Amino acid sequence: MSCLHCGGPLPDGSRRDKQYCRRKCSDAARFERQRTGAPQPPRWQHPALTADDERLHSAAILTRHLAAAHGWSPATIRFAMDGLTDLLAGRPPDEPVLLSEIRTRTPRFNSKLRIVEVLTEMDLLVDDTTAAIRCWIETRTSALPAGFAADVRAWLLVLLDGDARTRPRSPSTLYVYFGALRPHLEHWAITRHHLREVRGPRSSGQLPN
Ligand SMILES: [Zn+2]
Repeated sequence: MSCLHCGGPLPDGSRRDKQYCRRKCSDAARFERQRTGAPQPPRWQHPALTADDERLHSAAILTRHLAAAHGWSPATIRFAMDGLTDLLAGRPPDEPVLLSEIRTRTPRFNSKLRIVEVLTEMDLLVDDTTAAIRCWIETRTSALPAGFAADVRAWLLVLLDGDARTRPRSPSTLYVYFGALRPHLEHWAITRHHLREVRGPRSSGQLPN
């Protein structure tokens, strides 16, 4: 980016929405607009607002909406959109954002809170603290058909805690595995009453691990 008036370089470390290299240039440009009746140059906007990634785009729009409703500062909005870009760009569509990722990847406390707010509203955030993942297992499995719930719960807990043969897996692995299994469970539940009745090419009553 260069100064819209003189074309010179913007000072190092300038905010990304800066348009003029110094006060003199912005004053001169305003004077010139008044003289000629030219419109204001378009304001810089965060690239997330025009992102191709649909979720990132929606997140940016929602950020702007929440910001207007709650009076977030321009800096807070920029940092929140930066954080959302970092978290959402390129993420597989069915993969939620984990609270622990926001904690480790977002540098500023204030923008962390805003990002949590945006992603919660979009139903894209998962609290992956240990207590939360156990609660998640309980909720998800108790919604399954009765004959399936206990086995799936036991399987998820083994994944989470590990056992003699398997190492413990991360909460995000559990979400992905369960997400992959769930459509099959719904399908099996139409004709079976118990997971042990399921016989497929991959599973002889055993869940994938
Ligand atoms: Zn200038």
